Amino acid sequence: MNNQNKSCQNCKSSFIIEPDDFAFYEKMKVPAPTWCPECRMIRRMLWRNESVWYRRKCDATGKSILSTFTPDGPYKVYEQSYWRSDAWDPLSYGQDYDFSKSFFQQFCDLLIVIPHPNLIQKNVVDSDYVNIGVNLKNCYFVGGADGAEDSAYIFSPNLRSRDCFDIYSASDNERCYDSVGIEKSQGLRFSQDCIACSNSYLLYDCKNCMNCFGCVALRNKQFYIFNKPYSREDYQSELEKISPWTYSGFIQAKEKFNKLKLEFPRKFASIIKSENVTGDEIINARNCINCFDVKHDVLNCKYCYRVFENSADGQDAMAAWNSAELFYEVMSITA
Ligand SMILES: [Zn+2]
Repeated sequence: MNNQNKSCQNCKSSFIIEPDDFAFYEKMKVPAPTWCPECRMIRRMLWRNESVWYRRKCDATGKSILSTFTPDGPYKVYEQSYWRSDAWDPLSYGQDYDFSKSFFQQFCDLLIVIPHPNLIQKNVVDSDYVNIGVNLKNCYFVGGADGAEDSAYIFSPNLRSRDCFDIYSASDNERCYDSVGIEKSQGLRFSQDCIACSNSYLLYDCKNCMNCFGCVALRNKQFYIFNKPYSREDYQSELEKISPWTYSGFIQAKEKFNKLKLEFPRKFASIIKSENVTGDEIINARNCINCFDVKHDVLNCKYCYRVFENSADGQDAMAAWNSAELFYEVMSITA
């Protein structure tokens, strides 16, 4: 079979379905898509409300609860503990298929009458303000995280954070603050796209750096300030002069750091230890095409966003992790 040019039934732009895609659709027993990959991604994302929460009443207990569902919407919403209890029977909502109505009309009717949990939580302890959270303890205002403790204001994708505040797109970090795209780091502040860095401020694209301040694109360094080396003693005294722990000291340092960042060429995409991949924010992946935020041993995926940890053979996913396999048009799934 050859490439097929299609016109998206939503935005009317053209898109291509490749022979491999047809083989995948055949394997999954699904029809070929009629919308382009971008429209399909937008359609999927509409189903995921990660961090816009409303105050409303539980439809079972009448208690005031937080929920991703608006109080004036058509959905029936139960507070987490009641929804998970045996106080109601989901099977009582079962109904025979009505061949005179479309599948999607009946699916929509079911979505409206069946109760939904106020927030999505699993194995969550002392963490009421959490949505799409798994294995969390003592966390506050978290959306889209698996395995966090004593952390707040951390958002998806986020794996195994401890004592972290204000973190986005991160995994295996401890005592980090206000950073994006960081991995395996400790004591990192105001940093972006760094791996295995510790006790540092304002780093961009650094790896295995320790006790560094305001540095860009460094590898395996310590005691550097604005990309210049210092002795251990001079590093400390220079840091005292900069005083990043004062507001004015921090603002001045950040300005200088932002200017320094502009002096370095940027990679066209952040792709690390990967083979035959296209997209951005990819680590340890193989044969992943048009994928974004795909990390830690992911194989053979296409048109995916946020796929992690031993997941494989999927297309059109928004958040799939923990050994998910053979998935198509999915949102927030694990094995
Ligand atoms: Zn389209």
